[in-house]
Amino acid sequence: MVLERQSEPLQLRELPDPVAGDPSQLHLTVRACAVCRTDLHLRDSEIEATKLPVVLGHQIVATTDDGRRVGLPWLGWTDGECRYCRSGRENLCVRARFTGRDIDGGFAEQTVADERFCFALPADLSDDQAAPLLCGGLIGYRALRFTGDATRLGLYGFGSAAHMICQVAVHQGRRVFAFTRPGDEPTQAFARELGAEWAGASTEPPPEPLDAAIIFAADGTLIPTALRALDPGGSVVCAGIHMSEIPAFSYDDLWEERQIRSVANLTRQDAGEFLALAPKVPVRTTVTTYRLEQAEQALADLRAGRFTGSAVVVP
Ligand SMILES: [Zn+2]
Ligand SMILES: [Zn+2]
Repeated sequence: MVLERQSEPLQLRELPDPVAGDPSQLHLTVRACAVCRTDLHLRDSEIEATKLPVVLGHQIVATTDDGRRVGLPWLGWTDGECRYCRSGRENLCVRARFTGRDIDGGFAEQTVADERFCFALPADLSDDQAAPLLCGGLIGYRALRFTGDATRLGLYGFGSAAHMICQVAVHQGRRVFAFTRPGDEPTQAFARELGAEWAGASTEPPPEPLDAAIIFAADGTLIPTALRALDPGGSVVCAGIHMSEIPAFSYDDLWEERQIRSVANLTRQDAGEFLALAPKVPVRTTVTTYRLEQAEQALADLRAGRFTGSAVVVP
């Protein structure tokens, strides 16, 4: 399923079989690929495409030609030598290449990936259940780490990433407060089932101040809203690649050492840590599956908020 032009539907196309070009690359048969809001941002021109046409999809469960199951995340290649790579921050590599943006991704039957960026997956999860761990899980986990030892944790936007990170946070002994679109009672009930002690509309204040908030939704107005929900010293962590404009807010909302920060991409260390932790929680994903040729429908359903948990495309 190919994005030929941004702002236009994905197209079903027959492409030549991808071929591994050098010894570090693996030829892979795709088993499942989860849908991320970044795919939708690329489809909808909210972030710029670097290559067109492109096969989207960067949460790929695949098998190697010798039968091993591997997972491919968003980080597809780094140079290993820039100042970020040399300081343990390969997520910021100046020449990084990302799966499903710079490299053809997983809304396909086959793909090619750099073996150094492929990971073993928890054996007890099926292909479709494991796929959402590879971006929502990994980058959500990086965002969770940036909340430090926050006990009272707000999650703004309770989609694919939040439904996994809620389980991890509860496992770590944190108290989770889940915020959804106003009136989305099914998602609020879903959050309570996964261990959130409170769930409500993002327009409501939480029942008590928060130590940290992670914003998964792409709505910039949530940044000042979340800041106002924090106790002094608290932080707001923005986990998405794109947000709508942030409205002006009073310095009083930031005063007393409150912080706002973004999270960009992931490192292989994040992947290793999260994929080791996930079976211990254990993280259980709620997935809606789509056939490969329904990938455009999966993106439309994500845009409209028509499923809870994660969407997964299965060839
Ligand atoms: Zn993603
Ligand atoms: Zn680098």
